[in-house]
Amino acid sequence: MVTGLEFTTVFGRGLVGELPDVARRPYLVVTMDDLWPTFEGQLAGDVAGVYRVGTLDLGQLEADAAALPPHRSIIGLGGGQASDVAKFFSWSRGAPLFQVPTAMTTNAPFSHRPLLRDGGKAVAIGFAIPEAVYVDFDVIRSAPPLLNRSGACDVLCYHTAHHDWKLAHDLGREESRWPYDPSMVSDARQRYDAVYAALDDIRAVNDVGIRTLMTAHRWGGAAFHNAGWNARHMDGVDHGFLYCLEYVTERHFIHGQAVGLGIYLGSELQENEPEEMLATLHRLGVDIRPEAMGVTWEDAATAMRQLASYVRYAGYWFTVADVRTVTDDLLERARERLYDTFGPWET
Ligand SMILES: [Zn+2]
Repeated sequence: MVTGLEFTTVFGRGLVGELPDVARRPYLVVTMDDLWPTFEGQLAGDVAGVYRVGTLDLGQLEADAAALPPHRSIIGLGGGQASDVAKFFSWSRGAPLFQVPTAMTTNAPFSHRPLLRDGGKAVAIGFAIPEAVYVDFDVIRSAPPLLNRSGACDVLCYHTAHHDWKLAHDLGREESRWPYDPSMVSDARQRYDAVYAALDDIRAVNDVGIRTLMTAHRWGGAAFHNAGWNARHMDGVDHGFLYCLEYVTERHFIHGQAVGLGIYLGSELQENEPEEMLATLHRLGVDIRPEAMGVTWEDAATAMRQLASYVRYAGYWFTVADVRTVTDDLLERARERLYDTFGPWET
């Protein structure tokens, strides 16, 4: 079901090779260094230039946008970063945009505003509606399984987000511009249920799994705009944890994988079906042990202990992190359950 404005999305095969005959010439390709050799042959033609994404820094991207070679359309080819930079250039230079996500990592190809960085903080500056988003089953399937599967966590986090929004409402702490809206929650829940029902297909990255998760992303990407720039029904303590983990470790993570750990730890803090969420993430095949992300359990525990102060520092909206104390007992129980489910980490 399409609600509000969602981007024209086409599923199929052999879609990249059609773009030279579709995108207005000459076209600029915005992609990642490691992806370009794979697609170079299919996009040969009237290429204005190839921009390889190396930063999300707003100031640098403004300078890069001004220095782009003359072009009459833009092809964004890659994951979240390539999608976001392609959106920003399309907005900056006014060229029509075609998006080709190469993995299901996030809903960035389906959202209006690019998520960039400015002075160490996340900013969403720009607005672009692509002519079409091309989801090629074979292209998606060729991405590493973890990149694809972890994208489901950006939908499974509705579980913790809904609890947080309701909690804020019940405690009289909801933001005045975002009053609790049960119809928005039930709309989001439908997408959650669809993804949950297709967990095994998403894990397998088969056609059903790709279509289901990308259709959910299509809804989620547009929902921020469609809800009046409100993401309360989609993000909660789960994303707060990710940002805090980045902050305490000064590392970057595969978005959905770290959000997945945030879903589990957040649901422990909420006392909101934590064991069920752990089982769901395990079945999805996303390893949320900190070591699988290159950090330690102690890093994750530190992020949890600092969460309450971090979310106020970062100006994040009200969640369970603002009211429930992270105790040693809670962390110990969470650690035991996590390693009981996924097994002890062996190097
Ligand atoms: Zn996210």
